Amino acid sequence: APGRRQHFIREIVERDIAGGLGDVVTRFPPEPNGYLHIGHAKSICLNFGLAAEYGGRTHMRLDDTNPEKEEIEYTEAILEDVKWVVGGDEVPWFGPVRHASDYFGVIYEFAVELIRKGLAYVDSQSPAEMRASRGTLTRPGVNSPYRDRGVEENLRLFEEMRRGKLEEGSAVLRAKIDMGSPNLNLRDPALYRIKFARHPRTGNEWRVYPMYDLAHAASDAIENITHSLCTLEFEDHRPLYDWVVEHFNNVSCSSSSPRQIEFSRLNLKHAVTSKRELAGLVRDGAVDGWDDPRLPTIAGLRRRGVPAAAIRLFCERIGISKVDSEIDPALLDDCARDALEDAPRAFCVLDPIPLVLDDIEEEEELEAPVHPKVESLGTRRLLLSKNLVIDADDVWDSEERGMPPPTGWNRLVVPGGRVRLRYACVIRCEEVLRNPLRLKCKVERDTFGGKTGANGKAKGIIHWMSEERGEARRVRIFEPLFLPTLELNPRSVRDYPNAVVEPTDHEIVQFERLGYFRRDIDSSFNRIVPLRAKWTP
Ligand code: ATP
Ligand code: MG
Ligand code: MG
Repeated sequence: APGRRQHFIREIVERDIAGGLGDVVTRFPPEPNGYLHIGHAKSICLNFGLAAEYGGRTHMRLDDTNPEKEEIEYTEAILEDVKWVVGGDEVPWFGPVRHASDYFGVIYEFAVELIRKGLAYVDSQSPAEMRASRGTLTRPGVNSPYRDRGVEENLRLFEEMRRGKLEEGSAVLRAKIDMGSPNLNLRDPALYRIKFARHPRTGNEWRVYPMYDLAHAASDAIENITHSLCTLEFEDHRPLYDWVVEHFNNVSCSSSSPRQIEFSRLNLKHAVTSKRELAGLVRDGAVDGWDDPRLPTIAGLRRRGVPAAAIRLFCERIGISKVDSEIDPALLDDCARDALEDAPRAFCVLDPIPLVLDDIEEEEELEAPVHPKVESLGTRRLLLSKNLVIDADDVWDSEERGMPPPTGWNRLVVPGGRVRLRYACVIRCEEVLRNPLRLKCKVERDTFGGKTGANGKAKGIIHWMSEERGEARRVRIFEPLFLPTLELNPRSVRDYPNAVVEPTDHEIVQFERLGYFRRDIDSSFNRIVPLRAKWTP
């Protein structure tokens, strides 16, 4: 498709279609043991994007085979996040939301058939014995003493496992493949284990649960998935995936042909992209929940105000390959800025200093564009009144500091300096009142409308707000949650509790010179991203 970057998975799909493949069917199969993060977005965009491009479909499947780690809350959050990332008005997946647990009955029957065919056996070794007899990369494994149990005994023991007659850890069902295989995944991998935990969907119905490799491949086969896309760490599992699919087809007289294809996972520099580690941060209270705007979770990015379009753009730009890499989060910021370009503008004074314009007799309404380039957004009105506020950052107090400003300083120097108030006029500071700091200033009448005036050009232009019209709001600016040393950054939030903000109905705005912000639930504003470069007049 035009505008898309070609990659090896598209090439495979196109070749398959040319070779007579019908519909492309992909799936997105997260485990509901936490919230999704930016890494999952890569998989979401790939699976949903590819199927949509070729007129196929994508199944939404929750891989819920670990009852003790999984919760319904996570499932709900995952579905919401997937819908949001994919975008559009309709539910993006084909058919119902599926669960690996929907297939527990079918997969159990399949396992029984494997036993009947002599392809699986119940191993009663202890977990330690099993680990020891598995061998290593350089040493082949050793057959279990239970490997040659008869079919009848295996059937009886597996049935006992299912009914909770055997203790957790006392037995597993294993595939009978090859303890001498150079691939450790083929050394009689476990297919089923005993777990007494209550499952969020099937309750106490099951006492045995299929292992990931079995459940995943069988689910793909059951759903007639054509391309099963996963991350590189599963490359070594592919022969086992194929083994499960082949025997599943034999046993159920079906001809599904899902093909596993691996791609590299997305890792963000200095960020956590693992559900387990994210869960730790949430549990320890290091962050304010899974949707903390500092987290690279989908919920956190959404709450921060990063548009879904920016996330899709990011996934398109990083591309798909088999090379592991760490992506600089600055790339995501760039995508956010590109997606936010048309946001309406407003003023926000983070750390206000009162400024009194003594010579203002009557307040004046001034017009400013809502967006410098998007004329259709119209104009906004700014009130130039006696009492204004400007940002402490824009003031250099020479007396207080005991020295003149550094070279290159082009904002207001007090006392005596001049500066332009954006969309208004140039002012001159006549007097500095202290404790608390207040600036008495005069308007240069001949500088409205951008005119230079008799006193010549003022070097700097700053934003400002009328005290009467501005609204008091808390504003937060985020720094990375982790320091480059990977320790938690103790100053990851810069808090401005007394900011003065131009009234606006918009949820997302660009505060001029400061960056893009989103209104949070309590009407405070969080910064999404700073502007690309320092704003210079
Ligand atoms: P985590 O370690 O964060 O729990 P996971 O791989 O166990 O991640 P799953 O819920 O099993 O998470 O993942 C669902 C899908 O998302 C899988 O197909 C997986 O390959 C993919 N995925 C997960 N993390 C990433 C990532 N960082 N980059 C690309 N794809 C990912
Ligand atoms: Mg997983
Ligand atoms: Mg995981």
